Amino acid sequence: MKIKVLPDEIASQIAAGEVIERPASVVKELIENSLDAGADQIEITIREAGRRLIEIADNGSGIPAGDLPLTVTRHATSKLSTAEDLVRIETLGFRGEALASISSVSQMTITSRHEEEEIGSRIEIAAGEVGAQEEIGTPAGTIIRVANLFYNVPARLKFLKTDRTERRHIKETVVRYALAYPGVRFTLTIDDQLSFQTTGSGEPREVLVAVYGLDVGKKMISVLAKEDGVEIRGFISPPGLTRSNRKEILFYINRRPVQDIALTKALTRAYHTMLMKGRYPLAVLFLEMEPEQVDVNVHPTKAEVRFQNKSQVFRAVERAVRRALLANTPVPEIGSPQGQRLWGGSSAARRSSLSAPSGGHTWSQVDPGGISAGDESVKMGGPQSPLEELSSPILRLVGQVAATYLIAEGPDGLYLIDQHAAHERVLFEKFRGKRGNQITSQNLLEPVSVEFSPAAAELLEEKLPLLKEIGFDVEPFGMNTFVVRAVPVLVADTDPRKALRAVVEDLEEDETPLEKNWEEKIIARICKQAAVKAGRVLAPEEQKALLTDLESCQSPRTCPHGRPTMIHLSVDLLERKFGRTGPR
Ligand code: ADP
Ligand code: MG
Repeated sequence: MKIKVLPDEIASQIAAGEVIERPASVVKELIENSLDAGADQIEITIREAGRRLIEIADNGSGIPAGDLPLTVTRHATSKLSTAEDLVRIETLGFRGEALASISSVSQMTITSRHEEEEIGSRIEIAAGEVGAQEEIGTPAGTIIRVANLFYNVPARLKFLKTDRTERRHIKETVVRYALAYPGVRFTLTIDDQLSFQTTGSGEPREVLVAVYGLDVGKKMISVLAKEDGVEIRGFISPPGLTRSNRKEILFYINRRPVQDIALTKALTRAYHTMLMKGRYPLAVLFLEMEPEQVDVNVHPTKAEVRFQNKSQVFRAVERAVRRALLANTPVPEIGSPQGQRLWGGSSAARRSSLSAPSGGHTWSQVDPGGISAGDESVKMGGPQSPLEELSSPILRLVGQVAATYLIAEGPDGLYLIDQHAAHERVLFEKFRGKRGNQITSQNLLEPVSVEFSPAAAELLEEKLPLLKEIGFDVEPFGMNTFVVRAVPVLVADTDPRKALRAVVEDLEEDETPLEKNWEEKIIARICKQAAVKAGRVLAPEEQKALLTDLESCQSPRTCPHGRPTMIHLSVDLLERKFGRTGPR
C-alpha cells in the first residue's frame, strides 16, 4: 500500500478518539472553554445522558464573529501563539483541538456574541462540515450545542455505558470544576430536572456543602500553607470521616483537575496512623505554583502532569496536610454519640447477641436485632451436619488473645481465628440464607435524610430496588437527598446514615459487576459493619458461640471478602519448629 496523508475528516475523528471518550469528556472541554472565556455563569443542559444533547451556555467574553469558523479548525486557538507560551500555560485549554474533535463526531451549533460586538452569529457544523454563518441577536457569551454525539462513529456509541453511568460521569465532571471555581455559578440540568447547582458566591465551603451535603461540608478541615514556592489550600476530612476508596481525593494544579497517584500517596501518608486500613480521606486540594514548574502537556486530556521538582511538591503536600490535621485534633468525631455508636458503643447489645443461651444453638444468637429468635427453621446443630472438605474442623476453644483472636485446638493442631472475620462469615451466611423468606428489615423510629454527591446519588438511585430486597427502605427526597425509613436488622444498631454510605461506597468501587455480585457485595459490606470488631474482649460463652457458628458455615475458612478467618498451625509444623523432627 502506498503512503497517503489522511483526509482531514478522518484525522479529526482519530484525534477525537483521544480526547472525546464519552459525553462527560465533551462536558469537560466545554466547561474549560467557558472558564477560559472568563464566564461566571455556566449552564449545562443534558438530554439522554448526553447522547441526544449537551448544551453549555456561558456569559464569558464570547467569540468575535470573524473567528467563529476558526473555532472548529484543528490547532486553532486564541490561547497560545508562540512556543515560549507553551512553558507558561495559564489557561485550561491550549491545544486548539477540542471543538474540532467534538464537531467531527456530532452535530454542533455554536452561537456567540463577543462582548465588544453588537450582534451575535451562529454556525452549524455536522461531522466536521462547517455550514453557512448567520447573524443572530444573542446576549454576550457563548452557547455551544452538541447533538447526537458519535452518531457517525458507531464503534464509539457501542462502548458507551448505561445512561446512569454516563450521567454519573457528567455529574462528577461538573462537580470537579464547581469545586475549583466557587466564584462561578454552575447549573446542571438533566432531562429537564435541576441536578446540581452552586451559587457562585465565591465561598469555597459553600460549594463543598452543595457537593457533599451539610454534615460532611461542615466537618472538612481547611488547609492553607505555602512552602518552597508551592501554595496549598483546600479541604481535607478529619480522620473520623473516611471512604473506602480514593474517589473523593481530588487534586488540582493551578486549578486544573489532575490525577496523580503520588500526590494521593503524599496525602494519605500525612494521615499515617490516623486512618484504619483500607480507609481513605476526602480531600479537595489546590496546588498553586509557577506555570513553569509543571508540564501539563503530557496527555491530550491534560489530566496528567509532570513536575519539575516532584519530591518538593509531595513534601509540601504531606507537611501542609499533617499540620492541618494536628491543628485540628482532638478530632470532633471521636466521643460524639454517633461515633460511639459506630465504634462499638452498643456493646451490650452485641454481647447479648453473641452469648449462647442454654439449650440448642440457633442462628438467632448472632442476630443483634433478634428477629429470628425462636425460629426453629434455621436451627443448625454443629455436630449433626456432616462437615465437608473445606468446612471447619470441630474445634475446642482455648481462649482469646489480644482481644482479637480466638485460639482453638482442632484434630490436627492449633487454630488461630480472627474474631471479626469469623463473625463476618457467620453473619453473611445467615443473611444470605434468610433472604426472600424472612423479614430482614427494621423500621427506624424516625426516618433520617442523607445527602450524597450528585454522582453517588445517581448510583444509589439505580440500586434502590436491590437495596429494598436486602432490607433498606430508601426513597429519593429532593436533589441528591434520600430518606431512610428502614434498614437491615443486622445494622439496626448502627447509624443508618453510615450504613447507607458504606453501601454506596461499595457501589462506587466497581462499575460493572454482575447484578448478582452487587447483592453479595452489599450483603458482605453490611455484615462487615455488623460484625464484632477486633479489640473487643469476648466473654467465654461468646467465644464459644462464635466458634460453633463458624463450624456450621458452608465456607468457614474465609470471610465474605475472601480474607482468611483462621490460620492453622499443624502438629507437624509445631514439631518441626520445636526441633522435634528434622526438616524434610
Ligand atoms: P483551546 O481551548 O485549546 O484553545 P478549543 O477547540 O477548545 O481549543 O477552542 C478553540 C477556540 O475557540 C478557543 O481558543 C477560543 O478562542 C474559542 N472558544 C471556544 N469556546 C469558547 C467559549 N465558550 N467562549 C469564548 N471562546 C471560546
Ligand atoms: Mg478548549
